[in-house]
Amino acid sequence: MSEFEPLVDRFGRRHNYLRISITDRCNFRCQYCLPATKIVWRPREELLSLEEIGRLVRVFSRCGVDKLRITGGEPTVRKGWQTLLRDVSSVSGITDRLMTTNGTGLAQHASELAELGLTGVNISLDSLRRDRFREITRQDSLDEVLTGIEAALAAGIPRVKLNVVVMAGVNEDEIPDFVAFANERPLQVRFIEFMPFLGNGWKVDRVIGYREMLEQIKPHFELQPRDGHPSDVAKEFDLIGGAGSIGFITSMTDSFCGGCNRLRITADGLLKTCLFLPGNLSLRDLMRAGADDTEIEQAIRAALLTKWEGHPPMEQWRQLDNLTMMEIGG
Ligand code: SAM
Ligand code: SF4
Repeated sequence: MSEFEPLVDRFGRRHNYLRISITDRCNFRCQYCLPATKIVWRPREELLSLEEIGRLVRVFSRCGVDKLRITGGEPTVRKGWQTLLRDVSSVSGITDRLMTTNGTGLAQHASELAELGLTGVNISLDSLRRDRFREITRQDSLDEVLTGIEAALAAGIPRVKLNVVVMAGVNEDEIPDFVAFANERPLQVRFIEFMPFLGNGWKVDRVIGYREMLEQIKPHFELQPRDGHPSDVAKEFDLIGGAGSIGFITSMTDSFCGGCNRLRITADGLLKTCLFLPGNLSLRDLMRAGADDTEIEQAIRAALLTKWEGHPPMEQWRQLDNLTMMEIGG
């Protein structure tokens, strides 16, 4: 293996996990993700090309990044996403290749994804009830997503996780149903605390914290906490006697900045060193201005040195960034 100098921030945290959004477009309109106002898509030429994405993945891998997540918008609506996945599968050093998707492409593509060496897939699913699913996503696609989940399991994609954004007054009454879903299948259901992003109708009283969720679950299921790793974002529990497990993403009530190892790139090539802070380096503009790989690497290292120790308090971060969750990619 070649020698590399890892990407380290000024607090000594090593960053080996890159999440890259390959499109800002989506076939869903999830109410917690998008502003209620009309969406204006960026012109295509403003988005990174597939070649530019591949190049960036190679630059990051040379800096010790070994975990890559492809996200969006909805990654499976980007033309050529399979070609991209094939390309990044061949990048040496990237050992964990993950995707976050709304699941609509999985019934058709799960086997192909398994063959391409995807090591895990996170599928967003916020309700098991058809009417509610339609209300949340503004698409009548529950059956398609459920078929996609079964296809991912059948194809043997190693780690299948469901992302459930829990919102008060919307779907918190389905928490036990989701745990039962995980109890019956070898997958992990991850309950995500509702986070504020541009125009998504967030209010503090719409957040259900993980402790409250746990209280709802405990009377019905026996849980065994898993030992965590400092960079884990989820608090995970095995379901005793069940096939799967559950996890909680506690961004709102118990942040996990101390072990942060993540870097994000938006679909238009902005590097974000924190989910809750604006990106301050356009890797797209650098590449299009003719920078070579060494110059790109130097710029990434410099940006990482400006990373905060933790994210700003909740009231502040909503005023700091002007991107929707769909543009950031989760
Ligand atoms: N379209 C894909 C999907 O839905 O999985 C990938 C992109 S989506 C922005 C990535 C993840 O962000 C999804 O799991 C979604 O549930 C989550 N997400 C979006 N808005 C959120 C919010 N306000 N709070 C918490 N999670 C959110
Ligand atoms: Fe699309 Fe995913 Fe956002 Fe829903 S959460 S609108 S599926 S990007």
